[in-house]
Amino acid sequence: MHEVSIAQGIVELVEKQAKAHQASVVEEVELEIGRLAGIELYSFVFAMESVVKDTILAKARIIRHDIDGEGRCGDCGNVFPVQQLFDPCLQCGSYAVKLVKGTELRVKSIVVK
Ligand SMILES: [Zn+2]
Repeated sequence: MHEVSIAQGIVELVEKQAKAHQASVVEEVELEIGRLAGIELYSFVFAMESVVKDTILAKARIIRHDIDGEGRCGDCGNVFPVQQLFDPCLQCGSYAVKLVKGTELRVKSIVVK
């Protein structure tokens, strides 16, 4: 399940940041996850819950922001909401669409003590 390795990656990143700030407890982690990032949210939430056990994130509040997909058409320049990967341009039907939003997976902020 690749959600587990994603969750582990996030925990490692946060632990590293917390250590750099000599923190012993992480109180809050804010994540941004694109709806087109290929992450199954139910599995991801479950993976996070199990991966944080026995880490300094064990009691952290995980705040998740789901980011809607957005694409820019390479042919007509139209910017439009993308529901699914490989959706064509809503204006001209072109498939030369570059995703500008919705594939991100990042730690937006961390609150430590
Ligand atoms: Zn277009």
